[in-house]
Amino acid sequence: MQKEELWQAVLAQIQFQISPANFATWFKNTEIVSKKGGEVIVSVPNNFSKEWLENKYNKLILKILHSLDEEIKEVKYMVCSQATRTLQKLKISPEAEQPGLYELKIDRHTNLNPRYTFDNFIVGPFNELAQAAAWAVAKSPGEVYNPLFIYGGVGLGKTHLLQAVGNEIQKNFSQKVIKYLPSEKLTADIVNAIKNREVEGLKAKYGQIDVLILDDIQFLAGKDKTQEEFFHIFNNLYEKNKQIILSSDRLPRSIPALEERLRSRFEGGMIADIGLPDFETRVAILKAKLQEKKADFSDQILHFIAENFQRNIRELEGALNRLITYQKLNNQTPDLEIAKALLKNIIASPQKSTNFKKIIRAVAEFYDLSEKELLQASRKKEIVRPRQIAMYLLREELKCSYPFIGRKFSGKDHTTAIHACEKISKEIKESETLAEEISIIKQGIYSG
Ligand code: ADP
Ligand code: MG
Repeated sequence: MQKEELWQAVLAQIQFQISPANFATWFKNTEIVSKKGGEVIVSVPNNFSKEWLENKYNKLILKILHSLDEEIKEVKYMVCSQATRTLQKLKISPEAEQPGLYELKIDRHTNLNPRYTFDNFIVGPFNELAQAAAWAVAKSPGEVYNPLFIYGGVGLGKTHLLQAVGNEIQKNFSQKVIKYLPSEKLTADIVNAIKNREVEGLKAKYGQIDVLILDDIQFLAGKDKTQEEFFHIFNNLYEKNKQIILSSDRLPRSIPALEERLRSRFEGGMIADIGLPDFETRVAILKAKLQEKKADFSDQILHFIAENFQRNIRELEGALNRLITYQKLNNQTPDLEIAKALLKNIIASPQKSTNFKKIIRAVAEFYDLSEKELLQASRKKEIVRPRQIAMYLLREELKCSYPFIGRKFSGKDHTTAIHACEKISKEIKESETLAEEISIIKQGIYSG
C-alpha cells in the first residue's frame, strides 16, 4: 500500500472511534511522510498535536497500522509545517526552501511566532475594525478593550492578528508576561491538572500572566470542566486588569454549550469580526507576500489567483507559494497557462465538491450535534433549528427537492421542508448573526 492510501485507511478507522471534534483537532493536516523497515513517521502540524498523538492516540494508531501492514512496529511523530508538506507534494526536498524557519523561532515562553506582525498584516474593509481594536490593545494592554474578542472564518487572519498583538506588546512592554495558547492546549493543561490534582498550581501559573491570548475558543464548546476552571482563570486576570484576547470562528452566542457566565464575560468587552477579503485586498495581500519572498508575477496571474481563492487567505497564500516554488525550481516565471495548470487541482469548484453527507456533517459539527441527532425526529429546540438550517442548505446548495429533503429527515412531509427553507431564507435577511453562522457553515461544507 502507498503511504497516502495507508494513512487514509488509518484515518477512516480512527474517525469511527473518536468524536468528530477530536478527530478534526488532532488529525487534520497529518500524513505519513516515510515508511521504512518497521517504522512509520507521521507528520503533524505543531508540537501540541505531536504531544497529543504520542500520549493519547499512539496505541490506537499503531494497532491500526499494524493490522494493515504487519511489518509496522513503531510510529514516530514529527512536526512539519504546511510549507514543508506542500513542497513534499511537489516532490521537492524541504531544504530547497528553508521551511520551518519561523517554526524554529517560536518563543518557548510566550508561544509567539515572530512571523506574525502588524507590519505584514494587510488591512482592508473586511478586517479594519478588528485590526484597529487589536492595535489599540497592543498599545495599552488591559486598558481599552477587555476582553478583545476577534471572530471570523477559517484562514482569514485571526491567529495572525492575535499573535501580532502579542509580538507588539512584547516589543513595547518587555517586562510583561505574555502567553499565546490554542484552546486545545488550555483544555489539555486543565484536564491534566485535574487528573494530577494540580488545579491550584495551574491557576497560580496562569495568574502570573499579564496578557493571555487564547485562540479558537469555539473548541471549549461542551467541555464543562475546562470552562469552569477557565472561568476562574479569566476572572482572576480580569479583576487585575490583565489583558485577555480571544478568537473564535463565531460569535460567543453561537458557540454551543458555552456556559452562560462565560458567554456574558466574552460579550462584556469588544467584539470585532473579520469578514471575507474583497478582490482588491486579495491582490494587495498577494503583492505583499511576493515582496516578502522577493518574487514577481504578472498582474494577470495575481488576478487569476485572487479570483479563484476568495474565501481563505491561507489558501490564497498556498496558491502563490506553489507558483513561487515552480519558479525557483525551474528558474522560469510561469505564464498564465502554466499557472492555471499548476493550480488546477487546488482550485475549489463548489458545485462539484459538496454532497448530502458533507452538508449534514458541517451543520452537525457547527452545532455540536451528532449527524444522527440532526437527522432524527425531535422537537427539542437545540435540534429543530439546526435541522431547519440543514434543510435550507440542502435546498440552496444542492437544489434538492422538498420531498427528498423531507424524507431524509426521518420521513417528514415535504411541507415541513418548505416551511423550514422559507423560514430560514426569511430570517437570514433579518438577522446578521444567522447570515454569518450560515456563511461559516458553508465554509465548512466546501473546505472539508
Ligand atoms: P485563521 O487563524 O483565521 O484561521 P491565520 O491567521 O492562520 O487564519 O491566517 C492564515 C494565513 O493567512 C496566515 O499565513 C496569515 O499570515 C495570512 N493572513 C491572514 N490575514 C492576512 C492579512 N490581512 N494580511 C496578510 N496575511 C494574512
Ligand atoms: Mg487560527
